[in-house]
Amino acid sequence: MNKIEHIGIAVKHLETSNALFAKLFGTPHYKTETVASEGVKTSFFKVGENKIELLEATTANSPIAKFLERKGEGVHHIAFDVEDIVAEIKRLQEEGFTVLNETPKRGADNKLVAFLHPKDANGVLIELCQEIK
Ligand code: ZN
Repeated sequence: MNKIEHIGIAVKHLETSNALFAKLFGTPHYKTETVASEGVKTSFFKVGENKIELLEATTANSPIAKFLERKGEGVHHIAFDVEDIVAEIKRLQEEGFTVLNETPKRGADNKLVAFLHPKDANGVLIELCQEIK
């Protein structure tokens, strides 16, 4: 794994949180993107070298809707940049991690993504991201 690619934060109201985090970071979000297959609308902020993704549910059975029900708003996942997502999935499976997407899927921000089950990482949802070139 390379660097942290971004940190994902689950929010109830994207518009409200865009304004809040723009104040916090001193800079507005630079894009929003809906991933219909995941039932999420996202926005992205750049903070120096780092990226923060806000996620709002667009459907009642979206993973974000379920997360908000269970835990409320807050940090949802940490995403790591990888060179070769297929090789990394294989490596992690061999290490005993449960990979939720054995075949990487298309995520926001021009990435192939796969998630690991949080039970295998002390409750932290880990996202692997490979830039689509
Ligand atoms: Zn993410």
